[in-house]
Amino acid sequence: MFPIEDFSGVKTPFYYYDMKLLGETLAAIKKSLASRPSYKVHYALKANANGAILDEIAGVGFGADCVSGGEVRAALDAGIPAEKVVFAGVGKTDDEIRLGLENGIACFNVESIPELEVINELACEMGKKAPVAFRVNPNIDAHTHKYITTGTSENKFGIPMTQIGEVISLAQTLGNVEIKGLHFHIGSQLTDMTPYAMLAETVNRMLDEWEAKGVTFPTINVGGGLGIDYNDPDGNPIPDFEGYFKMFDAIKLRDGQELHFELGRSVVAQCGSLITRVIYVKQGVNRKFAIVDAGFTDLIRPALYQAHHNIENLTAENDAPVDVYDVVGPICESTDCFARDEKLAEVKRGDLLALRSAGAYGQIMASQYNLRELPASFYDLPGEKN
Ligand SMILES: *Cc1c(COP(=O)(O)O)cnc(C)c1O
Repeated sequence: MFPIEDFSGVKTPFYYYDMKLLGETLAAIKKSLASRPSYKVHYALKANANGAILDEIAGVGFGADCVSGGEVRAALDAGIPAEKVVFAGVGKTDDEIRLGLENGIACFNVESIPELEVINELACEMGKKAPVAFRVNPNIDAHTHKYITTGTSENKFGIPMTQIGEVISLAQTLGNVEIKGLHFHIGSQLTDMTPYAMLAETVNRMLDEWEAKGVTFPTINVGGGLGIDYNDPDGNPIPDFEGYFKMFDAIKLRDGQELHFELGRSVVAQCGSLITRVIYVKQGVNRKFAIVDAGFTDLIRPALYQAHHNIENLTAENDAPVDVYDVVGPICESTDCFARDEKLAEVKRGDLLALRSAGAYGQIMASQYNLRELPASFYDLPGEKN
C-alpha cells in the first residue's frame, strides 16, 4: 500500500498521507449522516490542519471545531463558512474572541463564568450578540489514558454540572450573548462506547430539566473522541462511525434541534504514517537499538501519552528474519523512544520504517527542539509532493 518506489528521492523523516483512505473515511461518515439529517460534523482541526487534508474535509461540507484563533483562521482560509465554525477552549484570549466575533462564527463553547462575562463585554463593545454554548463537564469517565480524559471533575475542562444553572441564569441577564446550546467532550481515543451511552442519558436528563424551566437549546454538541485501532490499522482502517452515531440516536432531539459532533482523530489518524530512515543499528548490553532519523519532535504521542504506533520495515524483503528492537530517535532525551521490544523484519542501516496511524496529533504537534527541521508532507495524489 505504500508507494515506496516514490519515496526514494524524498528526504526523511516525512509524513505520508493516503488520501484515498481519507476519502473513504469521509464517505463512511457521510453515509451514516445521510439517514440522520439533524446530525452535523465539525472536524476538530487540532488533529491535523494540513492544507490538502483540510481542503478534502471542507469539500465534503463538514464544519470546523477550533481551539485557538489560529485554527479559526485556518478553517476560514480552507473555505469552511463561518456559520459552521465553533470555538472551544478554556483560555480564549480577548484577541481570539474578537476574531471569532468579527467573522461571525457559529458558536463560542464557553468553559467558565469569567469567559462568559468577557465574551459579553467584547461583543457589547463591537455592537454584536455572541452565540454561546455551555461546555458542560458531565463527570463521566471516558476510560481512556489519563492525559486525554477531559470530562471528569478532576479536569480543567468545562463547567461543572453543579454550576450550569448559575451560568445559564447569568447568560439570560447578559445583553450581548445568545444561548445556542450545550456542549460536551469527554475525552479522546475512546474504544469502549459505554461512556457515550452515559453521555446520551445525561443530555436527555438536561434537556428535560431545562425544558421544564422554559430554556431550549437549538444545538446539542457531544464533542468527539471516537477511538481508532492503533494495533491493526490494516484490519480496521475505518472506525465504526455507524455504531458511534447509533449511540447518540438515544438522544431525544426536539423539533429543529441539531446534534453536533466534533470528530478529529477518527477522521485522519489512519491515513497518515511517519516515514523514517534507520541511521544505525546499535547493539547495547541487553538490547538492540534501531536508531532512526525521526524523533519525538516529529511524533510526540509515544513520549507524551505512552502511545504505541505499529512499526513496519518497508525496505525488508517479505521473507526477512524477524528480530527485536528498541526503536529510538536521535533527540537527547530518554523519552525519545517510539517502541521497546518491537518485532521487526531485520533492520539495516538505510531501511525505511513506517510508524502507522500517525495522521492525528502527529505532524501538527511537531516541534523544532534540538533545532531540528519540521517533517515534510507527502500525499499520494499526483503533483502534491512537497
Ligand atoms: C480535541 C477535541 C475534539 C476532538 O477529539 P478527537 O478525540 O480527536 O475526536 C473535539 N472537541 C473538542 C472540544 C476537543 O478539544
